[in-house]
Amino acid sequence: MNKKELIKHLETIAVYLEIKGENSFKVSAYRKAAQALEQDERSLAQIEAPSKLSGIGKGTAAIIEEIRTTGTSDLLETLKAEVPSGLIPLLQLPGLGGKKIAKLYKELEITDAATLQKACEEKKIQKLAGFGAKTEENIAKALEEMNKRPERLPISFMLEAARQLEQELNNIHEVKRYERAGSLRRMEEMIKDLDYIIAVDDPEPVRKALTESRFAQKIIADGLSKVSIECDFGMPVQVDFRLVDDQSFATTLHHFTGSKEHNVQIRQLAKKLGQKVSEYGIEDTETGELYTFSTESEFFSHFGLHYIPPEARIGKDELRLFEKPYELLSLSHIRGDLHMHTTWSDGAESIEEMAEAGREKGYEWMAITDHSKFLQVAHGLNEERVLRQIEEIKRINNKYDDFHLLAGIEMDIRPDGTLDLDEYVLKELDVVIASIHSSFNQSETEIMNRLEAALNSPYVNIIAHPTGRLIGRREGYKVNVDSLIRRAGETGTALELNANPNRLDLSAEWLRKASEHQTNITINTDAHHTGTMNHMEIGVSIGKKALLTPEQVINTWTYSDLIAFFTHKRQELT
Ligand SMILES: [Zn+2]
Ligand SMILES: [Zn+2]
Repeated sequence: MNKKELIKHLETIAVYLEIKGENSFKVSAYRKAAQALEQDERSLAQIEAPSKLSGIGKGTAAIIEEIRTTGTSDLLETLKAEVPSGLIPLLQLPGLGGKKIAKLYKELEITDAATLQKACEEKKIQKLAGFGAKTEENIAKALEEMNKRPERLPISFMLEAARQLEQELNNIHEVKRYERAGSLRRMEEMIKDLDYIIAVDDPEPVRKALTESRFAQKIIADGLSKVSIECDFGMPVQVDFRLVDDQSFATTLHHFTGSKEHNVQIRQLAKKLGQKVSEYGIEDTETGELYTFSTESEFFSHFGLHYIPPEARIGKDELRLFEKPYELLSLSHIRGDLHMHTTWSDGAESIEEMAEAGREKGYEWMAITDHSKFLQVAHGLNEERVLRQIEEIKRINNKYDDFHLLAGIEMDIRPDGTLDLDEYVLKELDVVIASIHSSFNQSETEIMNRLEAALNSPYVNIIAHPTGRLIGRREGYKVNVDSLIRRAGETGTALELNANPNRLDLSAEWLRKASEHQTNITINTDAHHTGTMNHMEIGVSIGKKALLTPEQVINTWTYSDLIAFFTHKRQELT
């Protein structure tokens, strides 16, 4: 249990109490405790006695101890049993907080979305004190939206669904091997459904296990070569499993990985050789002989090609590029991560815990980059705290002789285009990231002026998440990426590919453009706890999609090359 999870737990207790209609002092005790923990710089392991923090009473402190040692609390478990579970998703609806839901529950016996919808239709909501006809209309509209599944879902959602599903696949003993196929394997940003290729000797037991999966809501197809089920991951997701014998596994996998455009190019290549590609293998059109392959690498080398990773199968120029060995970026090239948060701002773990996690990954260097003061909700650091944190980072760094911990900051570019920290502090830092977290609705000129201010600062080395988008949820601000790429190159500033699967900006197309312009790229996880440092793998996948070579990504550089790059900009511009 880390601090973030504990805080979440306390906030959940508060919401449940509120829905239950408990008095507001009781509710706010938990919210205050959550806030007190949030504002403390220490990680959970470093806080010995929570009752000593101001804002945390004895009773609450006891609950905190209980959660810390057991991972849960009797209180929350009891509340969960008492409060109808269907009320919780209603918190997502605009304008509905715990108090209003309590009222709906108490006075209209509403327990879930269905009963709420019915009450809207019967015009009962508008009669409640504090609601009104407009509110009722808004709730009805939002309920309708909530029930609709968009055609495609964001990759972050699908990666999590796949992870859960694969835990089940790993437990089916009759599965010889399996792989993801389709758009998830290609790491597309928005994904319609999930595809798996499974090698089996006998399909029957596997078919049976799949249709009986705990996620299966509806069986769409139930055959010995293809099983399709609709799974419930909070949203309905169709999953297609293709059951094949081991011999055709590689070709079937290639076929169902796509992309369509890539497959068309492969078929054209085969045709020139007098061959035909199908999901079962490659057939010689004259003799009828069928070639099969044990791996996709063998499949590609049949055509004189080197292995093309699924992410790069986009149907552009990959066939030509992979005729020769192509030095493509891979996870093993990564020497460090330059963007992460700790309990000093809105992260869940201490500087030391993050550093240890980086060392365990085999990183040679890593930067701590908490938020700066403008971001008050994240408890951002002012100049005085930055200086204190630098001392702390130095102290920890001194303990290592195999690892460099860099003192950094993620500094806000304020709405008026000024930078959030004074130069005398920036000077003391090893690396400075600048980013936009506010006033997303500004015009392109205003946004570009803000970015330009950061690019022109001798101390800013990286522009983080350069478009501000959240895949499938938020467009981002109006940035002219073409000119950002050009200006970043000219000023010696690196552009970030944010490896968080919700963000993944720059997107692959822009990354490729950046690499063609010799603008340096950095791939960072923006981790807020040690677990999400694993997102590096996702970032590298997007790098592969953009066909990046290792040297185009500064995370593959040695410590001395990295420092030289940062220092160079300072010397040029000061
Ligand atoms: Zn940020
Ligand atoms: Zn960040």
